[in-house]
Amino acid sequence: MKLWAKIAIGLVAGTSTGLILGENVSFLKPVGDVFLNAIKMLIVPLVFSSLVVGVTSLKDPRKLGRVGFKAFVAYLFTTVFAISIGLAFGHVLKPGAGMHLSPSETLAAPTQQSVVDTFVNIIPSNPLQALASGQILQIIMFALLFGISLVLIGEKAKPVSDFFEAIAEAMYKLTDMVMSLAPYGVFALMAWVGGSYGLAILLPLGKVIISVYLACVLHVLVVYSLMLFVGGRLNPVRFFYGIKEALALSFSTSSSAATLPVSIREVQENLGVSKGVASFVLPLGATINMDGTAIYQGVTALFVAQAFGVDLSFAQMVTIVLTATLASIGTAGIPGAGLIMLSLILSSVGLPMEGLALVAGIDRILDMVRTSVNVTGDCMVATLVAKSEGELDLDVYATKSVS
Ligand code: ASP
Repeated sequence: MKLWAKIAIGLVAGTSTGLILGENVSFLKPVGDVFLNAIKMLIVPLVFSSLVVGVTSLKDPRKLGRVGFKAFVAYLFTTVFAISIGLAFGHVLKPGAGMHLSPSETLAAPTQQSVVDTFVNIIPSNPLQALASGQILQIIMFALLFGISLVLIGEKAKPVSDFFEAIAEAMYKLTDMVMSLAPYGVFALMAWVGGSYGLAILLPLGKVIISVYLACVLHVLVVYSLMLFVGGRLNPVRFFYGIKEALALSFSTSSSAATLPVSIREVQENLGVSKGVASFVLPLGATINMDGTAIYQGVTALFVAQAFGVDLSFAQMVTIVLTATLASIGTAGIPGAGLIMLSLILSSVGLPMEGLALVAGIDRILDMVRTSVNVTGDCMVATLVAKSEGELDLDVYATKSVS
């Protein structure tokens, strides 16, 4: 049976057990805590190694050149938009309002940091201390700078790049191992939530799903259409029609990496993007561009904050935007990667990790839509970059995609 199906069963069985046994179910909580600790254990080494590898995989910075630079900037730009839309939807639709959950650990009082401080403190004065105390934004920043330095010193970096590649590989394996515990962890935590709070828990989860889907649709239809139309004078309807197979595949596989062969073929055949741009910009996008994931993180971070009655300050929202945007570089295009990265977002602003278990049970439903948005974003940027480089066959764009 697929892991997501087991996790979904864990959600249903756990909630039901909790509803039946009520408060007595608290004996199961330690099982859930083991799972949460295991996820926390992954965060720092996983993020550091996968970000370093994400940057070093860009290889030769000169080869990246103008096309790579344009794609990179467009990818980060759309991600900032996406996370902001996610936060806005979470703020307006308030999926977690009125839940009044209380975290098992007392939360650290939020540091009253201004937006300026958030930016200033991004540079860790002591990177090892940042790693040891889990300061996520600082860790991400150092990993990116370190990765860039490795790229710049070229051949000499090889042993270190190989070393980090092996660590990242091992951390992916360890993540698989931890995620195989998820059905039991989710079962225990949902039993605890169901037992303590009753049926009232289900409605908010439905609201999370609706909020994420609405925000994704808005982002694709408004932001992408506008960028195509204003930035490239291109008809958005033809664009969406041209990538329909990639959309269907990403929705069903929940993996942008697995969709890559189809999206590379479709943007060339149906939209007229040149081979050179498609085969460079799309794989780059599948690795570093995650707009759907960013939307999901915005909505769910606010959901968790509301569920546990935490008021996020403006500076904390900025931290979420920065963390989600930079972390997307190290998010793999595989099913469920966004859930692990959510733990990062939660810890960057001190939100309780139990929130993760709340959304883990519905993660697959959210993963399908966020992956489709991720892939659409990759294809949109590839099309725009091709247009700006004179590498878009306008005849193909105008005719093929509606045939
Ligand atoms: N499944 C997503 C992708 O492949 C990543 C995620 O879990 O958000 O793009």
